[in-house]
Amino acid sequence: MKYNREREVAVEAVREAARLCADVQKSLIASIEKADRSPVTVADFGSQALVCRRVKSAFPNDPIVAEEDATALRCADHAAMRKTVCEFVRAYSPTDEDALCDWIDAGNGEVAKRFWTLDPIDGTKGFLRGEQYAVALALIDGGEVKVAALACPALDGGALFVAVRGQGMQAMSLAGGGAVDIQMGQPAWRFAESLEASHGDHAAQRAVARAVGIDAPSLRMDSQAKYGAVARGDAALYLRLPSSKYPDYRERIWDHAAGSLIVEEAGGRVSDMFGKPLNFAAATQMDDNRGVVVSCREIHARVIDGLRDV
Ligand code: AMP
Ligand code: MG
Repeated sequence: MKYNREREVAVEAVREAARLCADVQKSLIASIEKADRSPVTVADFGSQALVCRRVKSAFPNDPIVAEEDATALRCADHAAMRKTVCEFVRAYSPTDEDALCDWIDAGNGEVAKRFWTLDPIDGTKGFLRGEQYAVALALIDGGEVKVAALACPALDGGALFVAVRGQGMQAMSLAGGGAVDIQMGQPAWRFAESLEASHGDHAAQRAVARAVGIDAPSLRMDSQAKYGAVARGDAALYLRLPSSKYPDYRERIWDHAAGSLIVEEAGGRVSDMFGKPLNFAAATQMDDNRGVVVSCREIHARVIDGLRDV
């Protein structure tokens, strides 16, 4: 099957990175008591290093466009943090601090005909609160997301979603075990949105949901776990409308690429608030798109219509 190897590498990469994130989280209490440097940064860097290492060793010619870079970590000021990241990463792969920084910077590639995009920890605030976060990795080829792996360590004790375009979406436990095909059935009649108030317009989101007959309280969670939630029918809709506080904000490709294929391959739809496809192939910022609408297929057109009135 096409993209078999890519799928396999992506699954192993996000699974390993999610384990590292859990390791960091377990040591969080001790770290917070010792120093006030945020341990989430350790997990971001560690996750990116592990994913980039795996992707680059399997596909050396593929650029990776990832959220973090090692510039700060290379500074003498951050020697202690660099050492800590290195210790966490060494539990999975032998490395030294220079190689570690190089792995992280392997994620500073540029958008190309074929490239990967990575959010090593999507939903950092959720990670810090011990709530939802995700490791999100996607392959974009010829302008389309072709392969996606999304690890959600806090969803049902650890869920991993994987999709290849045209081959459906499978879910499995992060701990291991078999993959189950997921196709959206009748979803729970509610909508999902960010927990962070500034990552959307919650009043408008409620109004749009009401317009399609969804009155239930929203499912508020951090990260692309929201895409996983829609894909498996925990919600019929995920709305992300631009916050009036940040009118110039443009969505980043690594915040949506993996999630969007997970939902589409489960039978759902993803677009911006005007119904335009999300453009993952132009730049890291999706300048041509505003907001994001994710739905079970049936209500998508009505939601986009409803948005014209809000
Ligand atoms: P979520 O967990 O769904 O709230 O999304 C987390 C992501 O929101 C982060 O990875 C940021 O890249 C992104 N983000 C930051 N500021 C904004 C904003 N003003 N509007 C929408 N998304 C944002
Ligand atoms: Mg993110």
